[in-house]
Amino acid sequence: MRKQGLKLQLMSYLEIDKMKSIGTGNPVDLTKELIGCRSITPENDGAIEQVSHWLNEIGFESNILNFEEEGTDPITNLWSHMGNAGPTICFAGHTDVVPTGNLDEWSSDPFEGNEVNKEIIGRGAADMKGAIASFISATKRFVEENPDFPGSIGFIITGDEEGCAVNGTKKILKWMEDNDIVFNDCIVGEPTNPNTLGEMIKIGRRGSVNGTITVEGVQGHVAYPHLADNPIPKLITLIGKIIDKSLDEGTNHFQPSNIEITSIDIGNTATNVIPKEASANFNIRYNDNFDSQKIEKEIHKRIEDLGYNYSIKFEHSGDAFLTEPGKLTKNLSFIIEDQTGNKPELSTSGGTSDARFIKNYGNVVEFGLVGASMHKVNESASIEDIKNLTEIYYQVLKKYFY
Ligand SMILES: [Zn+2]
Repeated sequence: MRKQGLKLQLMSYLEIDKMKSIGTGNPVDLTKELIGCRSITPENDGAIEQVSHWLNEIGFESNILNFEEEGTDPITNLWSHMGNAGPTICFAGHTDVVPTGNLDEWSSDPFEGNEVNKEIIGRGAADMKGAIASFISATKRFVEENPDFPGSIGFIITGDEEGCAVNGTKKILKWMEDNDIVFNDCIVGEPTNPNTLGEMIKIGRRGSVNGTITVEGVQGHVAYPHLADNPIPKLITLIGKIIDKSLDEGTNHFQPSNIEITSIDIGNTATNVIPKEASANFNIRYNDNFDSQKIEKEIHKRIEDLGYNYSIKFEHSGDAFLTEPGKLTKNLSFIIEDQTGNKPELSTSGGTSDARFIKNYGNVVEFGLVGASMHKVNESASIEDIKNLTEIYYQVLKKYFY
């Protein structure tokens, strides 16, 4: 254990020699540099050390945090901060990226960050190395212009967002709590805009739960059904009841909750056998009408009267949450409209993000680049967008402290 820690430490000292300087703090250069790190979850490839190095260059103090847990890959994370007083605003995000997919389909090496038609092409350009570069450039400009700003700025950066998220933001926040580090507000740089910079701020997310429903029967010969108990018709009836009616009509800031059946699995390869067991998977995205207990109850309520011998295994990834639009959201919206001409929609749509952990500690909103190409081949970010996003983050800092 101790030996491994030492090795990691030594490696990061060696890595520092290879680190690029922040230079003029041009966010486009920083984006390219970060794309050069092959940080496919759980790999880090120096990405976290590079971010830490840049922040240290502009006067931040950094803690590189290595977290591990049995059965998961160890992950490198970062907490970095400047200032000793409140209020504290944090920038949060991830340096890890999803795999490239078929390399032949990429028009340019996904880890080179080349410029093509005023876009940077590369894995993580949009999700979300471009936003991290923008965070850093905006912060550099702000702290150079305002060295005695009244408050603190923090960076919560993980290498475990695209993976199982066990050794990432959740553990950074716990570590901060254990070390009495608090913050008031946080901006997550996920690519929240569907097509154009400025379209959308996320002020919450729906809850998500996976369910596996299994029906037990009695295996037998298809020619002697009276000696068996076929679970498949029962499973079909159960699924039918589960999706029979909508969960709700939506709430103030949320779309209606939704159930999707994602798979039905029997695994029976024989044509003359009634199987013993049948199961189906479903996912529910739910709004603030429900929490994890209420949603489980609702599903059972829909089917328990049938009297079948079934079981359901639920796996929760977090309840719905909402940051009621306040000062941070108002300022951010105003600055975005001023900078881009777009009045951003305050949305709770889309998948989950690490904001689901951060909301337990402070106000959190999400705003980053355009997400249209994320996770796809030829992922890209417009150079103009990266520059505009940097200006937006810079203005947010100014408005936050002055
Ligand atoms: Zn992301």
